[in-house]
Amino acid sequence: MPLSASSVTEAATAAFNVCLLASGSKGNSIYISDGTTNLLLDAGLSGKAIENRLARHGLAAGDLTAIVVSHEHSDHIRGVGVLSRRYGLPVYISAATLRAAPQIGKLAQSHSFSVGTPFTIHTLQIHPFAISHDAADPAGFTIANNGLKVGVATDLGIATAMVRERLRAADLLILEANHDVQMLYNGPYPWPLKQRIKGRTGHLSNEDTRQLLTELKHDRLRHVVLAHLSETNNDPGLARETVVPALDNADIPLTVSGQDRCSAMIRIEGGRHAAHGDSSGS
Ligand SMILES: [Zn+2]
Ligand SMILES: [Zn+2]
Repeated sequence: MPLSASSVTEAATAAFNVCLLASGSKGNSIYISDGTTNLLLDAGLSGKAIENRLARHGLAAGDLTAIVVSHEHSDHIRGVGVLSRRYGLPVYISAATLRAAPQIGKLAQSHSFSVGTPFTIHTLQIHPFAISHDAADPAGFTIANNGLKVGVATDLGIATAMVRERLRAADLLILEANHDVQMLYNGPYPWPLKQRIKGRTGHLSNEDTRQLLTELKHDRLRHVVLAHLSETNNDPGLARETVVPALDNADIPLTVSGQDRCSAMIRIEGGRHAAHGDSSGS
């Protein structure tokens, strides 16, 4: 009976469905939906390939709300222009990234964001934050709704204090685990490219990610995804084995994403935790 309307309101839960359509140096795209707003974070495969991968989860590109772009490297933008034009999709992209990406072509709609300034797409609060990477204006993101928060940081050479602060208290973390340092050093890449990957504006190694996750792990963390693995300088089993000690035997699933297949659909849900509500305003 009237246990109180407010307790019902309080109990209202948010939920996210998230899958990595592809992840790696040949193309990246993450589908994130709260059931009302359906985003693609990057679209680094061809438009056709993205349509096909969405279809494997019973999803249609025509049901997308918008595309959000992290930076201009081709493994993140290949399908952005095509999908925007084909489905009339708005694209959220920083002005500097758009200038650096002429190959995107004409967009059905473009909305410019500034790294560090949160914005809203329908029901989702998006907070872009600066990452250290060799692109014009690269961004990581948190995506939040009703206290539930997804944190995404791929393509970064180092995890700065700002990155760690933004990713704090995320319910789902999608983190780069690009390479194993030994495999990179012993591998076939020319020395300058090895230097670039290892440098401050390159990519996180498995060891870097273990360290980052050790700091970020908290009681409400529901799921971790390792992303942007190099096919040449990493191995999914090795990445898992290296990073998993950061979870300290906690019962938190860890998914290793891949280049050639969609990840499973990851569902996280939960209500607002009064003490931990993450408003988008900070
Ligand atoms: Zn990049
Ligand atoms: Zn990339």
